[in-house]
Amino acid sequence: MEPLVDGWGRRIGSVRISVTDKCNFRCTYCMPAEGLEWLRRDEILTFEEIARLTAILAALGVGEVRLTGGEPLVRRDLPDLVRMLAAIPGIDDLSLTTNGILLTRLAGALVDAGLRRINVSLDSLDHVRFAEIARRDALDQVLAGLAEAERYPELRPLKVNCVAIKGFTEQEVPALAELARRKPYVVRFIEFMPLDADRAWSADQVLTGGEIRALIEAEHGPLVEIPAKPSSTARRFRFADGHGEIGFINPVSEPFCSSCDRIRVTADGQLRTCLFSRREWDVKTALRDGRTDAEVADFLRFAVRHKELKHRVNEPGFVRASRSMSQIGG
Ligand code: SAM
Ligand code: SF4
Repeated sequence: MEPLVDGWGRRIGSVRISVTDKCNFRCTYCMPAEGLEWLRRDEILTFEEIARLTAILAALGVGEVRLTGGEPLVRRDLPDLVRMLAAIPGIDDLSLTTNGILLTRLAGALVDAGLRRINVSLDSLDHVRFAEIARRDALDQVLAGLAEAERYPELRPLKVNCVAIKGFTEQEVPALAELARRKPYVVRFIEFMPLDADRAWSADQVLTGGEIRALIEAEHGPLVEIPAKPSSTARRFRFADGHGEIGFINPVSEPFCSSCDRIRVTADGQLRTCLFSRREWDVKTALRDGRTDAEVADFLRFAVRHKELKHRVNEPGFVRASRSMSQIGG
């Protein structure tokens, strides 16, 4: 089949699939403290629908799948889905982004089902500050989840993601940099984006990758850049003595839209061609109304042709997406 190429000539190779909008945390930069309505069961794509869509995408050259949410591990029987997706020809990179709290229970089953890569979100190594940001007192469980993941050599590299917020994250940088040196974890800082349900984001709350790099270099000396794939969202660095890797995902200060190869599917089956899209494409209906795989593929091609050139976060008049991060799938 003809590959998926957008209207600007970018080839799409990666999809992030949200498996639930529910979450057992309430991170301040993502969800409201309370009161977000969950999707109904019948609104959410079934495992069979996700697998069919993934197979169609794989045939169009999309080889990379990341499962996300909400918190993907709260979706019942997730390892069954992982097993279904891992068996699809053409899927050569299957990964998961999680807050880590359920990993102690599920890491083994996920690896057994074919999961090979995992990202765990972790914003603070201090109990009080962790609870402040996640609105849940769960640091020990997350660290235990990471330790459990570490037991499986299949799950490498283990990535730890921290959302960088000015006035908060500066204090976390030394301990997180130490974590990268002490453990086989790649620690990555992601600039805070205007996707929080509380709509409290402002440009001056973004702690940039450049600022964090300077903080780390003041302590450890110059970091050495490691070449990354052109479609990679992260700039990678290692410590000069070779112990530890740090990554910076800088969508606000250094947008990487020109090499973006990603699309997203929400838990309720809406295709989004950008995190900041204001338009969604109803793939769920395309999957449910009797269309053949070839017809669904045509629908996907049409949607992808309309992929946005770039996000406009830094432009005057930027208008936020109507859904927040946990409802989209980060
Ligand atoms: N619940 C899982 C987790 O936290 O890893 C998966 C879903 S979460 C929406 C995916 C990623 O988005 C996490 O790494 C999270 O830190 C990040 N994220 C959420 N809100 C964000 C925001 N406003 N700006 C930047 N990253 C954000
Ligand atoms: Fe939940 Fe992940 Fe959002 Fe935190 S970032 S509230 S863990 S979906």
